[in-house]
Amino acid sequence: MNTFSKAGLWFLMSIAVGTSPCGILAQTPARAEQYKSPPPHLHANLWMQTSAEYQALCRQTFNSALREIKQTVKGAKRRQGRPVGPDKKPFAVVADLDETILDNARFQSEMDAAVWADGMDLGYTRRRWEQWERDNPEEVGLLPGAESFIAEVEKLKVAMVYISNRLESLKDGTIRALAHNKINTQGLQDIKQGRLLLSEGASSKQARIKQAEEKFHVVAFLGDNLNDFPGETEEATNPMERVAAFRKKAEAASDLWGTHWFMLPNPVYGSWDQILPKTIKERMDFLKRASNPAFVDAK
Ligand SMILES: [Mg+2]
Repeated sequence: MNTFSKAGLWFLMSIAVGTSPCGILAQTPARAEQYKSPPPHLHANLWMQTSAEYQALCRQTFNSALREIKQTVKGAKRRQGRPVGPDKKPFAVVADLDETILDNARFQSEMDAAVWADGMDLGYTRRRWEQWERDNPEEVGLLPGAESFIAEVEKLKVAMVYISNRLESLKDGTIRALAHNKINTQGLQDIKQGRLLLSEGASSKQARIKQAEEKFHVVAFLGDNLNDFPGETEEATNPMERVAAFRKKAEAASDLWGTHWFMLPNPVYGSWDQILPKTIKERMDFLKRASNPAFVDAK
C-alpha cells in the first residue's frame, strides 16, 4: 500500500461519511486533484454488503411489488389459466438483472481491492466486467428476497421477463448465474419466448421494453437504475442538466413508484454516477453547487 492510495481512499471515505480523519485530510487536496480515476465505491459497497438497512430495503421493495401484483392478478381475466390484461396479453413482471435480482458483490469487492492496491487503478472496466460475466456465474448471488419474490410471481402464473445489459453473446453465463441460484430458467434460451432480453450493443433498454410490452401486459417493472423503467430521459449537455433531466423523469412517474415501478437501492454504480463529472476535483465542485438550494430548481 503506497501513501498515495491510502490518502486517496481516506479522502474519499471522508467525503462519504462526512468525517475528516485527523492529519490525513490536511494533506489530501493536492493528491485528490491528481487522482484521475473514478472514485472507488468502498463505502457504498460496504453498505450494500453488510448493512441491515440494505437488506430491509430490498425486502421492502420485493414485498411491496408482490402485494401490488397479487392485487392486480386478483381482478384479472384469465386465459388458459393465466391472468391476462384487457389487451388479452399474458401478465408479466419486467425486471433488470444486476443489482435488481443478481448480486455481484464479489465483483464489486475485487474492484475495491484493486483500487486499494493501486491508487491509479480504474476499478470498473468493460473488460473486467465481461470477464466476470463470462467466467464467474457461480460466484453471482441473489438480492435478499429475490428468490421468493420470483417464486411467488411464477406461482401466480405471471411471467418473469428479464431485460439486462449483460451481453447476448455471453448469454450462457447469465443463464448459469440464474440456474445456480435456483431461478427458473425455462425458455430463457429461446429468443421467441421473449423472457430474456440482453444487449446486442445498445445500452438503452427502451426498444427492449417496447418489445416486452408488445408481447406481455406488464404489471410491474423492477430495477436499480432509472433507465430500467419506460421512457427516455431528456438529452442534456452538462452534468447539472443531466441530473435535472433524470430527476424530472423520476418525478413525472411519482404515481407509479410503489404501484407499478419498484426501485432497488444501488449506491455503488449506475447511470446516476455516469452522468456526474469524472474527477474528484470536479465532483467536489459539483457537490458544492448541487448542495445549493437553487439546484433543485436548476432545470
Ligand atoms: Mg441493474
